[in-house]
Amino acid sequence: MTFSSLGLHPDLLAVLDSLDYNTPTPVQQAAIPEVLAGHDVMAGAQTGTGKTAAFALPLIQHLITTELSPRAIQVLVLTPTRELAQQVHQSFVKYSAGLGINTVVAYGGASINPQIEALNAGCDILVATPGRLLELAFKSLIDLNQIKTLVLDEADRMLDMGFIIDIKRILKQLPQSHQTLFFSATFNDEVFALSKTLLNQPKLIEV
Ligand code: AMP
Repeated sequence: MTFSSLGLHPDLLAVLDSLDYNTPTPVQQAAIPEVLAGHDVMAGAQTGTGKTAAFALPLIQHLITTELSPRAIQVLVLTPTRELAQQVHQSFVKYSAGLGINTVVAYGGASINPQIEALNAGCDILVATPGRLLELAFKSLIDLNQIKTLVLDEADRMLDMGFIIDIKRILKQLPQSHQTLFFSATFNDEVFALSKTLLNQPKLIEV
């Protein structure tokens, strides 16, 4: 199995080559074609399985193969913690190097002003923790009307940390029709209940 056989764009294949990624991991093999096809996905995947690239690569491909202007936030990735937000942001930056895509990260517990400046400089992909995202939205500092894809990364931890109400508030700000990708290391009743409210005929991926 190669990244090329998953349908990835030559520009992304070149980036992967430069990173010395030769073989897609199981979650990448399963998720990349489904995300490229526009499906909702529910994936059980632990950290360390390559799950970030499993959603980042096809979402970057959506952006480079569609019209970018006017610039707007088209992908929103929610994470439970500042640390994960920073890691996911770094991954998007790494995987979109040289492709003209801007990824911005916003999280609580840090000054909001540099985050606002980064957003104003142009943002295609926003990685954020739920509280800070809502703060930006309620202050009308971001426009979520052009979101094409919502990613919930580590959804189980988000629920454990009590973010359910924030997630529901954020959903109300998104366009009715969008793709949703749901990643969780574990599944319990609460996780399933949330996934049911978020996902439309999801492709199930377990690795
Ligand atoms: P993640 O599970 O997304 O946190 O990724 C775990 C680590 O694996 C990260 O350091 C990635 O850079 C690396 N990685 C992801 N996919 C691949 C791949 N196909 N080949 C080699 N390394 C990879």
